[in-house]
Amino acid sequence: MKDVDSINVLKYEAVIGLEVHAQMLTDTKIFCGCSTKFGSEPNTQTCPVCLGMPGVLPVLNKKTLEFTIKTGLATNCKISSFSRFARKNYFYPDLPKGYQISQYELPICEYGYVEIVVNGETKKIGITRIHMEEDAGKNIHESASGGGGNYSFVDLNRAGVPLMEIVSEPDIRSPEEAVEYMKKLRTILRYLGVCDGNMEQGSLRCDANVSVRLAGQKEFGVKTEVKNLNSFKFVGKAIEYEIRRQIKVLEDGGKVIQETRLWDSERGITESMRTKEEAHDYRYFPEPDLVPIVVDQRWLDERRASLPELPDIKRKRFVSEYGLPEYDADLLTSEKSTAEFFEEAVKLGGQPKTVANWIKGDLMRLLNEDNKSIEECPLKPEQLVEMLHLIDKGTISGKIAKTVFHEMYTRSSSLKISVHSDVIVKDLGLVQISDTSEIEKAVDDVIAKHPKEFERFRAGEEKLIGFFVGQVMKMTRGKANPQMVNDLLKKKLF
Ligand SMILES: [Zn+2]
Repeated sequence: MKDVDSINVLKYEAVIGLEVHAQMLTDTKIFCGCSTKFGSEPNTQTCPVCLGMPGVLPVLNKKTLEFTIKTGLATNCKISSFSRFARKNYFYPDLPKGYQISQYELPICEYGYVEIVVNGETKKIGITRIHMEEDAGKNIHESASGGGGNYSFVDLNRAGVPLMEIVSEPDIRSPEEAVEYMKKLRTILRYLGVCDGNMEQGSLRCDANVSVRLAGQKEFGVKTEVKNLNSFKFVGKAIEYEIRRQIKVLEDGGKVIQETRLWDSERGITESMRTKEEAHDYRYFPEPDLVPIVVDQRWLDERRASLPELPDIKRKRFVSEYGLPEYDADLLTSEKSTAEFFEEAVKLGGQPKTVANWIKGDLMRLLNEDNKSIEECPLKPEQLVEMLHLIDKGTISGKIAKTVFHEMYTRSSSLKISVHSDVIVKDLGLVQISDTSEIEKAVDDVIAKHPKEFERFRAGEEKLIGFFVGQVMKMTRGKANPQMVNDLLKKKLF
């Protein structure tokens, strides 16, 4: 695609809405007792119900209702006291019944919102509805896997796996906002424990409705739907591409066609898949095999009371209770386990800002390099706090602590036991030198080696103190107490 002139891009405004599919973290499927475990041999987790055999009857898994309602409560939705399932009719080989059980005119949750922060500004993104539905199976085409062959296979392990579809209002205006919204939803779902948010395995994926209009125009432009975006990166890139493609079409005097497009992540483009269906194409009607859902007020109140502290509230509390900057609080609360690690360390006596710095700096970096999540972290909060005490006592310097922390992480990880910082300090001989005579000797040696610099230093070139401190640290392999080195050097001036 030819690039669009940036001035032309500014003439337009993008209007984006996301339909997010979240696989619920239940052990069994939505209308039968089959396992939802990922990665099993094809067609080993099926039964007459999810295979769509004639004469079978679905029974709702109560957990899925509870999970969807919790999500609705956490996203400020109104919970319908009366809702029901609907049949969405379409034919596809991975849909054995010829219809999908979903919800249509009476979804379980409506009229909610979540807050996102983009460029320091808080914005509300409306949630139109959240409904429950069953997933379809999976088609595997031999020819598409590159190995040739003419057969297509169908794996129905995924048929009947419970999904929540979270539909946003068209409130999103940029790819960045779309990514932030998606991240926020993932955080909330993981806090609630209703979805693992694993985008690689497809537990969280989204379709994006994208249109553009001239800035200031009220009416929406014609939208396209970009299907099956399964990473934050692809969400951002696919929407960015689609916006520019539509602007180009309009600038060239053409018209955007309402259609479904597929994101090709290898080529970085969206491609037309089929013209978009309208709702009436699906011939929705109320599902006759399932009773309507009536939510009891007391049961709903109990679910509300059982909600955990949610990310936005936790973030605000971290700012007020621990005096953390907004940025740190946001980072620490994006995963519940990270927030727990932080609070545990503070409870054990760690100074909040210091603990936050170690978590968002060295700990996050090591986990990233190791491709581990915070849940798999080999270090425990007490190991960090013990090490911080060693710094406070002057046993090790802040700089040496970096080495100790790294070593503590590596050893704890490979030995699968908690290796403590005092052991490492002893093993590697990293105890800080706080003995005045020893440091003074090093200072004298360095001065003797650099007489010219010392003369300039005495003559008033004060910034040279950094050079001398550096030399002394080098000589003591970083173990000299930096404050004492500074003091002694200043003394030598006079
Ligand atoms: Zn089944």
